[in-house]
Amino acid sequence: MDVTCYLVSPIGCCSGVKRAIGMAEQVLKMYKEAYIIEDVVHNNVVMQKMFDAGLKKVSNIDEIPDGSVVLFSVHGVAPSIVEMCEQKGLTIVDATCSVVQTIQESIKKSAAQKQKIVIMGNRYHPEVIGFLGCARDTDAFVVNSEEEVGMLPDFQDCGVTYYTQTTLRIDKATPVISALKNRYPNIARENETDLCCGTYNRQIAIIEIAKNMDLVIVLGSRSSANTTYLAELAEEYGAKNVLFVDQISEIEASVFNNVSNIAVATGASTPEYIVDETLDFLKSIIENVNIQEIAQNRICNED
Ligand code: SF4
Repeated sequence: MDVTCYLVSPIGCCSGVKRAIGMAEQVLKMYKEAYIIEDVVHNNVVMQKMFDAGLKKVSNIDEIPDGSVVLFSVHGVAPSIVEMCEQKGLTIVDATCSVVQTIQESIKKSAAQKQKIVIMGNRYHPEVIGFLGCARDTDAFVVNSEEEVGMLPDFQDCGVTYYTQTTLRIDKATPVISALKNRYPNIARENETDLCCGTYNRQIAIIEIAKNMDLVIVLGSRSSANTTYLAELAEEYGAKNVLFVDQISEIEASVFNNVSNIAVATGASTPEYIVDETLDFLKSIIENVNIQEIAQNRICNED
């Protein structure tokens, strides 16, 4: 049976994750040992390689020996973490994505102007924790639903603005933003969201293709918000079967029986070698597999 395998573009890591992985590799080559408090990127396979190469994870800065190297994750950290590391005399290597850095700077400016700040996202995600830390000079709140918007204070007679986690689901963010705008008609914002291109392009691509697929394989880790949303979207937008795995070795070959088309998608933190392994596996078990990269209309440019 002929099988077509569509590679859902963009495939592999986004530019921010590529840069962070490169920085971690360089640090470990140079210093042999470095410390993190959060995974550099949300991908289990990538992180295991880093741990094997000498990276050590601790739960707080106090556990890092004086004079060591500390590596900040692609999701960024709060200013208070930077200050603690500086006070301890640690060598800081900052792998924060430039998109996250830009949002952090904007939050600091809003906070300095004493605007109230609403951050939309998962309050336990390191990026949101970093954003909250940047808003320490004002009152800041995290919301993740229309109901939570309803529970915010009135903010009478003062400016209010909002920011969003970069990796939210587009369709889930829109009603929360509408609720915020209804609640605070003067809420200040230039762009509708802070979703990054790495998130946006991948979500649009999976929404377009899912309904035509017998099987969608989403490669990445459950710790990755943007990858988890791709798997959710593939299911909700009509794929007959969705498998969400770190790597292809987790999938039984029998899954491919009676399948005529497959889509392979990656989160923004899944490197291309995991895609290559997947394609090699598919070629080894399916006699006639035709691999096609789909040239999706990108909503915005990631680079
Ligand atoms: S997903 Fe977006 S914010 Fe996160 S590293 Fe990639 S480009 Fe940066």
